[in-house]
Amino acid sequence: MNPILKPRIGVVGVGHLGQHHVKHYQKLSSAALVGVFDTDMNRANEIASAYNTTAFPSVNELLNSCDAVSIVTPTVQHASVAEKCIRARKHVFIEKPITTTVDEADALIHQAGKNGVIIQVGHIERLNPALRALGDYALNPKYIEVQRLAPYTARGTDVPVVLDLMIHDIDIILALVSSPVKSIHASGVSLMTDSVDIANARIRFENGTVASMTSSRVAKDKVRKTKIFQKDMYVTIDFLLGLTEVYRVMSDKNPKAILTAPLSEENNPREIAYKKPPVISADAMQLELANFIASIQGEETPIVDGIAGREALDIAIQIHDMILEDIH
Ligand code: NAD
Repeated sequence: MNPILKPRIGVVGVGHLGQHHVKHYQKLSSAALVGVFDTDMNRANEIASAYNTTAFPSVNELLNSCDAVSIVTPTVQHASVAEKCIRARKHVFIEKPITTTVDEADALIHQAGKNGVIIQVGHIERLNPALRALGDYALNPKYIEVQRLAPYTARGTDVPVVLDLMIHDIDIILALVSSPVKSIHASGVSLMTDSVDIANARIRFENGTVASMTSSRVAKDKVRKTKIFQKDMYVTIDFLLGLTEVYRVMSDKNPKAILTAPLSEENNPREIAYKKPPVISADAMQLELANFIASIQGEETPIVDGIAGREALDIAIQIHDMILEDIH
């Protein structure tokens, strides 16, 4: 791959999320936004005029003018749109999930390798400041518990809840646990759509780590919480509030602990130290798109590449298939 100094960028699909890609590229001085394409020409014109860029009449004309694109179409369109872009030798940032099938993801990864282009996948939660706040801690989870709940909206329901919501947590868990998946158990129900709307899954890894996840798109309020348990440490992350809390068992008295509670072992006095690592406020989408541009420039590598996107999809589909088997 030849690095590009100031990549020319297009956005394909400028609905709810695509408009934010346009907004961020417009602000990124390391990239040059050349325009947008959307099958809904009225929407393309509306977004182009709001962000002072060009609405292209076809995806081919957009591709002729750029080096890279964000693909922010509905998920079912990702594979066909991305294939076209990759064959035209354009780097692609594909919103999550990468595709709807693992075969489609494999085909894109293969094509990208052949054409020397980058695939990055929009698993934006990896850049959530509350998760990044744990950067200085050595994480070696033994048990992970996740809740991701959202009120019902029609958007995103073209795919089941596992591919819409749970896949964010699957991606994070696969990044946290460096061990192959040993077994999966899952169950779920359909309530608002013909597809699965509430899902619960438990993954056991070969190193013994267990992750339990619940995702729902039938909730009153949004919840996005993760708890990580490991030897002598317990972490809670609230992705929505941007709050990260760490409880650690200390072998000595720790004068820096904000709050301590003694553990009652007379021969082996230990304390629990509580700490709130600073959560540095940042726009996660701005960070992931800046990482995409820097990767095209040859200065960084994608935080979530095509293979990571494919791995998360593979587990998500296994979970979803298991739920369908359970229901029928
Ligand atoms: P949306 O329906 O609001 O927008 C999709 C847009 O794509 C529409 O304007 C539509 O006209 C256009 N479109 C459809 N087919 C097209 C094609 N072949 N070529 C060009 N344009 C086309 O959907 P959305 O909510 O913006 O979601 C888009 C994608 O982003 C989905 O894959 C979704 O899973 C993903 N998403 C990711 C996150 C996240 O947290 N990272 C959040 C929301 C959505």
